Amino acid sequence: MPGFEVFGEEEKKEIMEVLDTGVLFRYEFPEQRRGVYKVRTFEENFAGYCGAKHAQAVTSGTAALKVALTALGVGPGDEVITQCFTFVATWEAIFDVGAVPVFAEVDETLNMDPADLEKKITSRTKCIIPVHMLGAQARIREIKVIGDRHNIPVLEDTAQAAGGTLDGKGLGTFGACGTFSFDAVKTMTTGEGGMIITDSEKLWRDMSEYHDHGHDHVPNPGTRGGEGRSFIGFNFRMMELQGAIGLAQLAKLDTMISSQKKNKAALREAIAQIPGVTFRTILDEKGDTATFIAFFLPDGGKAKAVNAVLAENGAGAIAFGANTWHFYPKWEHLLAGSTLAKSGWPFNGPDGKRRVVYDKEALPVSAALMDRLLVYQGPVKLSEQRLAQITAAVKKAAQI
Ligand SMILES: *Cc1c(COP(=O)(O)O)cnc(C)c1O
Repeated sequence: MPGFEVFGEEEKKEIMEVLDTGVLFRYEFPEQRRGVYKVRTFEENFAGYCGAKHAQAVTSGTAALKVALTALGVGPGDEVITQCFTFVATWEAIFDVGAVPVFAEVDETLNMDPADLEKKITSRTKCIIPVHMLGAQARIREIKVIGDRHNIPVLEDTAQAAGGTLDGKGLGTFGACGTFSFDAVKTMTTGEGGMIITDSEKLWRDMSEYHDHGHDHVPNPGTRGGEGRSFIGFNFRMMELQGAIGLAQLAKLDTMISSQKKNKAALREAIAQIPGVTFRTILDEKGDTATFIAFFLPDGGKAKAVNAVLAENGAGAIAFGANTWHFYPKWEHLLAGSTLAKSGWPFNGPDGKRRVVYDKEALPVSAALMDRLLVYQGPVKLSEQRLAQITAAVKKAAQI
């Protein structure tokens, strides 16, 4: 959760430049804004940083997923495969475009298991969304090969992995597009905000116009009012203040990632003393930006016992298997088909008949993995005191 840990003078300076012009809107007001285009500059810098040709800023990571799915043409009647360990936003966006989310197992990368993905592909599958969960790389190369073989685009949910790479290539640039979140707890933050990157000029143009009510942007940002509208859209525009903060945070991203790495290494050294412990598979340590350090005990009972000792000693770890927000069996509103729509949409189809049912027991491999998983945050700032406390707790846990 690093971005807010380093919020400071640089962000304030960027924000003041916007307040000095008084233009909070990303388009228009050419005289008044005196050349200050924070969102546009943030997009350019972010695309450049990731190694993508284009970037589109939006209001959130959830909006980024929705805009990307829309631009990829996904809609009612389609299925989208994602992983069962993610934040609820990933599948909310799938429902929101009218499609049905299908969940694949995760493996010891804690990300999509390519073999299970392939089993779940049907003639209706129109997109695959692997997630670089907790900031570490999904098996994106294998997933891309499978997508290509079936002619299905891959959308990388990179919300938690800004700045991550695999073999030197930016996460989010492997698939047709990659989405990012800058919410309050992400690697870099603008409070709320999101971004989509892509190499496709066509996808980018469609996303840019869709996120702005379908106004045509020729060139971006085009003149407003007199322009045509090629299709219906929505409003997911980022404001200048967010763009300003994003610029300052992006400039700090590399430093944040390297402090995180150092702190994770120290935590890892301590955790490695627990007998039988193994660590989450990291495909490329060099490009890893994990904001968490994740480790497995041999079984669920051992994980509970170890965590009880850690907690008694002031250093309890997160047990994602029991965490409400990130793992399939805990999404009770999804399993129950809870919705505000009187028709029962999106769980019921337009005919009012149930079109999808989610079985709590559907993902046994992931459930077994989650049961023996413990996770610590890998913060940018880790005091010696806190490290000493965790190390002491781990020593005690190692004796049980
Ligand atoms: C945070 C997050 C999102 C959504 O981002 P918001 O900016 O909070 O809307 C999407 N996917 C994943 C994996 C996330 O962690």
